[in-house]
Amino acid sequence: MDFSLDKEHELFKKTVREFLQRELEPISKDIDSKKEIPREFIKKMAEFGLLGLTLSSEYGGIEADNISAVIAAEEIGRADISVATAVYYLLLASWSKILEKYGTEEAKQEFLPKITKGEWFMGIASTEPHGGSDVLNINTTMKVEHNNLIVNGEKIFISGVKEASLYGGGFVTIVKHDPSKGHRGIAAVLTTIKDNEHVETGIIENMGRGGISTGYIKYNDTPYPQEYLIGDMERGFYYAMEGFNLARPLVAAACIGAAEKALDIGLDFIKNRIMFGRPLAKYEAIQFEAVEDYIKLEMAKDLVYKTAWMLDEYYRNKRFALSDINKMVAASKWIATETAYNILTHVMMWHGALGYSKELPIERGLRGILSYLVGAEGAINIMKLIIGRELFGRDFMPTKP
Ligand SMILES: Cc1cc2nc3c(=O)[nH]c(=O)nc-3n(C[C@H](O)[C@H](O)[C@H](O)COP(=O)(O)OP(=O)(O)OC[C@H]3O[C@@H](n4cnc5c(N)ncnc54)[C@H](O)[C@@H]3O)c2cc1C
Repeated sequence: MDFSLDKEHELFKKTVREFLQRELEPISKDIDSKKEIPREFIKKMAEFGLLGLTLSSEYGGIEADNISAVIAAEEIGRADISVATAVYYLLLASWSKILEKYGTEEAKQEFLPKITKGEWFMGIASTEPHGGSDVLNINTTMKVEHNNLIVNGEKIFISGVKEASLYGGGFVTIVKHDPSKGHRGIAAVLTTIKDNEHVETGIIENMGRGGISTGYIKYNDTPYPQEYLIGDMERGFYYAMEGFNLARPLVAAACIGAAEKALDIGLDFIKNRIMFGRPLAKYEAIQFEAVEDYIKLEMAKDLVYKTAWMLDEYYRNKRFALSDINKMVAASKWIATETAYNILTHVMMWHGALGYSKELPIERGLRGILSYLVGAEGAINIMKLIIGRELFGRDFMPTKP
């Protein structure tokens, strides 16, 4: 057993870090306050190969593995601690992959090259006003009429509404086509919103990760070409779950990156801040907290990298059962998010008033990480629900599956 990155991954990590330190870190404060990731930087990410990292070269990707995708997410989270840039990156990485795996050739040719070039956005539209956790109970419908897919309903708290409205791209949208069929009554459809008179969109102001928008999309008899249907009409639910399994380790890695950055800042501060005649780091109340943070971060990081490795083994070598993947993915997202939240909170406390101010990046990191605790890419209790389901079986789920 070897826990170290191989030479190729080490080199990738080094070059990604150098690129992001140069191009992203200096603009990260502005990304949050100006509420936009500059288009020039998105283009630079594309030129570097970060948008579509795991996609096939046919569509402009570089066919990297999930370990590389996790390395990039960690480094992006480190360079932009608000995690807004990481959200942009990981939505493209995971939901474009679902399009590449299951979409029609027409849709792939239309969307993927523009995504890998940094022109178009790609996200997920699953959550609805009555709740996001219970994906099976969505109300948005889709019917096939005269070779068109007609979508009706509302999606809310969707990341990238402004970006897709302004620049193009779309969403893997989870819709119901036959309520009598349970999981199999759910399909996945690509929906676009730019210059689309059949949709109404709006932005919802969030407390954090200002660089990427969140909003709602109302579909009013919105027609889409049949080529926008993703894969088998009866497998949309499963595509959504697969997309979440790809996205969540990247969320976890972004949280790890943000927490590493915060801990670096925190350790440096407590070594140098003199209080009652000695550095704060000499007081065990603070030193032990820092030690625990360090250990928990190492543990979370190991779990996230193990999950990425398992995903690669699952896809490339057909190793592991899907239930093992589900468990590890959910565990990674839960542990990394919670650990990052605790570390950012501790580092803020060590800094006193300075930590609460906008002079330091800690406050924007904390606001960003919280999005992942409350819900983005699945609420924390839902991660526990998934692990419980895989440990105890469906008979022990709180609600009838
Ligand atoms: C910043 C941000 C960006 C987002 N971006 C997107 C996006 O791009 N696309 C998208 O589709 N969605 C997006 N979401 C929505 C996200 O997926 C949902 O927040 C999430 O699925 C939870 O849904 P909900 O917020 O409606 O909460 P609910 O599902 O109503 O849940 C409320 C609370 O109850 C808990 N809960 C629910 N069921 C159970 C249970 N059985 N047992 C115990 N506790 C339970 C949850 O953990 C949660 O704390 C985003 C959310 C945020 C905050």
